[in-house]
Amino acid sequence: MLRGFDTFRKRITLLSGGLLLTLSFLLITSFYQLTASRLSVASGETLVGISQSISNMLTADIAERHREVVLLSQRSFLYENRDLSDLQGAIDRIKSSYKDYVWIGFADAEGLVLASGNGLLKGADVSQRPWFINARAVPFVGDVHHALLLERLLPKPKDGVPIRLVDFSAPVLGDNGELKGVVGIHVDWTWVREIISSSLSETSKRKSIDVFIIGKDGDILYPDSNVKGELQAPKTLPKSGEFKALVWQDGEEYLTSLVSVDSPESSSLGWKIVVRQPLSIAMSAVNDVHKLLLFLGGFSTLFCMLLAYWFASTLSRSLERLAHTAKSIQQGNRNATFQDDSKLSEVASLSCSLEKMMSSLLVREQSLMQMNLTLETKVRTRTAELEASNRSLEVIVRQDPLTQSYNRLALDEVLLGEYNLAKQSQRPFAVIMADVDYFKKVNDVYGHTVGDTVLKKMAVLFSRLVGSKGMVARFGGEEFTVLLPNFRVEEAGIIAETLRSALEKEDMDDSLFVTASFGVATYKNDDSHYEQVLNRADAALYDAKEQGRNRVIVSAY
Ligand code: GH3
Ligand code: MG
Ligand code: MG
Repeated sequence: MLRGFDTFRKRITLLSGGLLLTLSFLLITSFYQLTASRLSVASGETLVGISQSISNMLTADIAERHREVVLLSQRSFLYENRDLSDLQGAIDRIKSSYKDYVWIGFADAEGLVLASGNGLLKGADVSQRPWFINARAVPFVGDVHHALLLERLLPKPKDGVPIRLVDFSAPVLGDNGELKGVVGIHVDWTWVREIISSSLSETSKRKSIDVFIIGKDGDILYPDSNVKGELQAPKTLPKSGEFKALVWQDGEEYLTSLVSVDSPESSSLGWKIVVRQPLSIAMSAVNDVHKLLLFLGGFSTLFCMLLAYWFASTLSRSLERLAHTAKSIQQGNRNATFQDDSKLSEVASLSCSLEKMMSSLLVREQSLMQMNLTLETKVRTRTAELEASNRSLEVIVRQDPLTQSYNRLALDEVLLGEYNLAKQSQRPFAVIMADVDYFKKVNDVYGHTVGDTVLKKMAVLFSRLVGSKGMVARFGGEEFTVLLPNFRVEEAGIIAETLRSALEKEDMDDSLFVTASFGVATYKNDDSHYEQVLNRADAALYDAKEQGRNRVIVSAY
């Protein structure tokens, strides 16, 4: 998550941008809804106003036409003369008073036209026409219809639209209430067209406001272009005096208003004036505002993000400098400094603390390095001392403490080496075992200290005589062993003889002389251990003791 947004400045920018965008979106949406509903009410009310004004004019005109036909029917004296010339005159006057009267006439009770404007249809039978049938009892207002009988007699309209008529008729009753006939007026539908056209301002036309007259069966009576009934009004129209947004047949949503047209009591035209305007146009103003707000919201978000980026950059730059310094120190640059000229007190305080911490760490590092150096020197000295002491220990452990000559351990180690060498390269070695004769007596007579002196002097004597030819070791008690590498048994025997004769001449302590017996043996190829050589030398020594002491016996084996 947030990969790529790993820096302080990017995160602040993203956060502020996100917040601002959400806020703008919420504000714009609520503002849009508020303005949209207000504008929708305002537009709807305007449409209702247009419907109302058309309805009022139509209501007034219908009432006027209705009143005229009723008045004409009530002038009974006009119908009493057989020649009806007065009636004809009255008809002609009325007809000329109103341009949309297409026909005015009087038919007797059987439906025969006795008088009419311009004499049109005079003598025609209208007994089957609705205006006649429906007006025999009460006044009648008929719905719009195509001219049938009159179509042929009237001049062709210039616009080519077929003539449509609205009928107004009323019964002519005698003094006793008997039906004398029916007076009828046919009004050209152009009358309605003109009312609607005069009610719509140019602005209304520009704003795609359409007006419809819907009959009581739901058919669209106006405009005339819908005479074939292609267009159908939506089923659920608003109530009279109200408006609502409805989807029409073309799939588009229209703000639609409706106002009913009042018709005279005796008739029921049931016309409704429906005015509609595409919702997109009705709401175009608010849509424009919405677009502007969106643009402003986007622009201000971008601007604020830039501002936030700049702000975060000033903040993070100081932190980045501190991090850079820390990295440089970590890489070994001890001259780097945390000093920062940041105007932010927190950053300044942080850099000051880091600087102090750094200098205290540097001091500690120095003292640690010093301590380390001292410690290393100490360790080196102690190691050298230890090695020296180990070396002297090695010497001590292989040295006889009384005579300072080699001891049994040292002898065994060198003997093993010689034995191995002899096994590998057939180089011989010989061993001389020497035992002081009657040494017990020396101790007994002269004391142990003198005995010790004898042993010490003997060691010195033997070592001097053997020299580099071999190794002198105290085997134990008053016994000494001489190892002679690369010596044959005869040569060893000569050395043993040299030692024996030198010893007996050596004054040990105030004319104290001692002798010793010697056994000599050499390595043999079939020896499986160097001990075997020692054993043979010991056996020869034993023989020397047996044969009278102070002599050398060389092992025959
Ligand atoms: P032999 O001729 O048969 O060898 O007789 P010996 O008396 O030398 O033999 P023995 O084995 O009976 O005596 C050896 C003596 O050596 C006994 C002991 O007290 C003495 N001795 C052994 N080691 C030391 C020593 O380190 N110092 C002294 N002063 N005497 C020692
Ligand atoms: Mg002995
Ligand atoms: Mg002895």
